[in-house]
Amino acid sequence: MGGMDAMPDAHTPDLRPATLVVTAGRPPHEPDAPLNQPLVAASVYVAGGDREYGRYANPTWEAFEQALALLEGGGKALAFSSGMAAVTAVLDLVADGEAIVVPQHAYLGVLHQLASMEAKGRLSVRTVDITDTDQVLAALDDAAVLWLESPTNPALEVADIETLAAAAHGAGATCVVDNTFATPLRQRPLDLGADVVVHAATKYIAGHSDALIGAVVTRNEQAWLAIDERRRMAGAVPGALETWLALRGMRTLALRVDRAEANAQTLVQRLGEHPAVSTVRYPGFGGVVAIEFAGGVIAADLAVHSTRLWVHATSLGGVESTLERRRRWKGEATTIPEDLVRLSVGVEDVDDLWADLSAALDATGELPG
Ligand SMILES: *Cc1c(COP(=O)(O)O)cnc(C)c1O
Repeated sequence: MGGMDAMPDAHTPDLRPATLVVTAGRPPHEPDAPLNQPLVAASVYVAGGDREYGRYANPTWEAFEQALALLEGGGKALAFSSGMAAVTAVLDLVADGEAIVVPQHAYLGVLHQLASMEAKGRLSVRTVDITDTDQVLAALDDAAVLWLESPTNPALEVADIETLAAAAHGAGATCVVDNTFATPLRQRPLDLGADVVVHAATKYIAGHSDALIGAVVTRNEQAWLAIDERRRMAGAVPGALETWLALRGMRTLALRVDRAEANAQTLVQRLGEHPAVSTVRYPGFGGVVAIEFAGGVIAADLAVHSTRLWVHATSLGGVESTLERRRRWKGEATTIPEDLVRLSVGVEDVDDLWADLSAALDATGELPG
């Protein structure tokens, strides 16, 4: 695929992901070249080249995009101003009146965006339980897009992407996977047959809760061109600083995901033995866990307000551990239990995390029954 000539790179996709996060998207190893891709603040370029204008191209975006595409196992990426901007650029490609199959539990912004498009008659939405492959297959009839998120937010359901992507193609539909929760270090949807991957790089990829940025990755040149055109026209382009921060953050992605996952696995085991916790949901990998409480919603609210180290905040994927009761958001699906608290496990010392969390859980046991 063309378009990457401006970013010569000796690194090949056969390097392992933990190496690629460090090596990909860097300037060539030449005397006096900076090791890191510089942050290029430019709204305009001298005419005669490929870039021309700051809404069309930026060398810092190109480095980030190249690195992310290599991490997803090859293809081409496009960076956006946020995860939702990336999602919206992809949804904009769906023709008027088409049907899109989506998980009943997914990132709320995506579900709200689809609901608002449906309310305007732009497209129709079919919600499914993505763990029920037969149900998804039945919903694909005449659909234009199968939109997957796996694991789902905040229910942490896991889809059989390979089977579902093949079924989508059989039905003439395009398969899009939001890979934000898994990260390309744990799941490469394009290798499993998906056509397009979207990311809220705001979360794990940037990883430090200081930048909003999104991205799309695809191996389909036509899809890439169409999404690039949407970005040029709609203008939801990332800032050079945010893109630089995301690339900087990506350098430690493998370390952060490994540590967050190890912490999560330890906590999942301890949470399962704590009497204040009635249910623990964990997909088996990654750093996001959801719990429900023996003491119900009052206990859940008390717990999220009792921690000192864990920050009561939405979002996920940063180095710091955060937690929130999801149904505090009015728009959250009513099939999500009222007392479900989502934990985004960070990279702190796991014993400090457990000491703080277990003290908050112990406090819920003192509630009058
Ligand atoms: C956060 C998130 C988004 C949206 O990303 P923003 O950068 O907040 O716009 C989309 N999908 C998932 C799964 C997310 O967690």
